[in-house]
Amino acid sequence: MPEHYDVIVIGSGAGGGAVAHTLAPSGKRILILERGNFLPREMANWDVEEVFENNKYISEDTWYDADGHPFQPQVHYFVGGATKMYGAALYRLRPQDFEDLPHVDGLSPAWPVGYDEFEPWYTRAEWLYQVRGNHGEDPTEGPWSKQYPHPAVSHEPRIEQIFDDLRGAGYHPFHSPCGILLDEADRARSTCIRCTWCDGYPCLVHAKADAEVMTIRPLLEQPNVTLLVDAEVLRLETDGTGRTVNRVHVSRDGRTEEYTADVVVLAAGATNSAKILLRSAGDAHPNGLANGSDQVGRNYMFHNSRAVIALSKEPNETVYQKTLGLNDVYLAGDRSEWPLGNIQMVGKSQPAMYRAERPKMTMLAPGFGLEDFSKHAVDFWLTTEDLPLPENRVTLDRDGAVHLAYRSTNDREADGLYHELTTILNHTGMAEHHVLGKNYYLKEDIGIAGVGHQAGTCRFGADPATSVLDPDCKAHELDNLYVADTSFFPSIGAVNPALTAIANAIRVGEHIAARLA
Ligand SMILES: Cc1cc2nc3c(=O)[nH]c(=O)nc-3n(C[C@H](O)[C@H](O)[C@H](O)COP(=O)(O)OP(=O)(O)OC[C@H]3O[C@@H](n4cnc5c(N)ncnc54)[C@H](O)[C@@H]3O)c2cc1C
Repeated sequence: MPEHYDVIVIGSGAGGGAVAHTLAPSGKRILILERGNFLPREMANWDVEEVFENNKYISEDTWYDADGHPFQPQVHYFVGGATKMYGAALYRLRPQDFEDLPHVDGLSPAWPVGYDEFEPWYTRAEWLYQVRGNHGEDPTEGPWSKQYPHPAVSHEPRIEQIFDDLRGAGYHPFHSPCGILLDEADRARSTCIRCTWCDGYPCLVHAKADAEVMTIRPLLEQPNVTLLVDAEVLRLETDGTGRTVNRVHVSRDGRTEEYTADVVVLAAGATNSAKILLRSAGDAHPNGLANGSDQVGRNYMFHNSRAVIALSKEPNETVYQKTLGLNDVYLAGDRSEWPLGNIQMVGKSQPAMYRAERPKMTMLAPGFGLEDFSKHAVDFWLTTEDLPLPENRVTLDRDGAVHLAYRSTNDREADGLYHELTTILNHTGMAEHHVLGKNYYLKEDIGIAGVGHQAGTCRFGADPATSVLDPDCKAHELDNLYVADTSFFPSIGAVNPALTAIANAIRVGEHIAARLA
């Protein structure tokens, strides 16, 4: 007989970790099935060549684009999932993101729950992840019921200067909400040493608030929680009615195992959750589990993002650069007819990251070596919302391989955001520092393999004809299956998705706890 649990959680990343953490105090027997293992703590964690050139922590998966071209997606199969590598910028969506929001290429649809209903879960998420930030600084943010548990991480001098310049020019920069365990008042007791190896790197000293550190490790000693690593869920099987998942099929140590539970929570990441559902087709669900509406895998989003490096004549010695954000053009207004998105800083770029960019760099900054380039770089991340198109979707071929069809939307808004950044920098004293006295920006659109912000393949909604999940994130067509990763997003907004996934997973976890009680 397969081993039986009260709840099986599939995936231990942002969503799965938060569900398990929320459910654990109920005393219910919880099994977490994680495809990966613990990410080793080793010097390579902080080695830019290992991480960015050798792709040491990226999965060996091959996915295919709409034309059948193979690519290696930037997915991370570890306890903690993508949060092991994430930048820990932990933003709330704006209240307007929960409503119908017109964009240049169409409508970003409303959510079945509003910001007000989400607000308490955001607060829980910010406290669970010990976020550093200052509510009240960003004029676009929604109401908040409780201040962040810790004050914002301070700016280093070069960023402080940009912050002051922006304010002087009439903008509204704010301290970006950061999930790093930095105690600036007592550095000797601080887990975080404030280093460069944060955004895009695993944290060697476990000082980044990731899902492993904040949600899974605290559960390891709990007698009612079992974590199985290297346990890849292959498919879910239903009983004869088709309404209940009654078997979870797992590949572990070269063997196939089966587990059962009263409730199953899928949180394998937006693409892999869709993959598992599509692979679970059976008599009652011929097009894939929970897919009577043909919505599973559709509406894939991952943001219309750009990394931008501005070169400044003055050296930028910043170590931890992610402290500044700007939402002045997040919404339509005086400066733009359309919502353009969010501007934030990213981790300081390193010489090894530019090797592939050498020709462009040479053009932009002749005479500059890689080291010089890095020393003068000021790094930004621009995020514009992309729309949930039904044809942007995950499908599987006959061999079960993932095909990802994606066409970007709101490119004009993304261009507008880039233009806005260059204008902002020109108006804030950066121009005079630019190399050669001109403005030089290195701009990189994020291609299809950059799936870090993947979302939307199993959206929630009130109508089973147009959504996979109901407003509680239970599959419309099943009585005991929930999805609690970024799949549920009906729209993605223009801020980083993890805090919203965590907040929703806590919400779903509380719902399941009440149901099982
Ligand atoms: C480099 C990078 C930087 C990022 N920076 C930020 C940031 O600064 N702020 C932010 O908000 N977001 C950021 N993100 C995105 C953020 O990490 C994700 O939005 C978030 O982790 C998604 O949560 P999830 O639960 O949907 O998936 P994940 O966190 O990826 O968790 C999915 C889990 O499921 C496991 N899994 C997959 N398939 C199976 C299977 N078949 N069986 C069992 N387990 C399975 C995976 O191994 C993984 O542990 C970043 C992502 C990347 C890659």
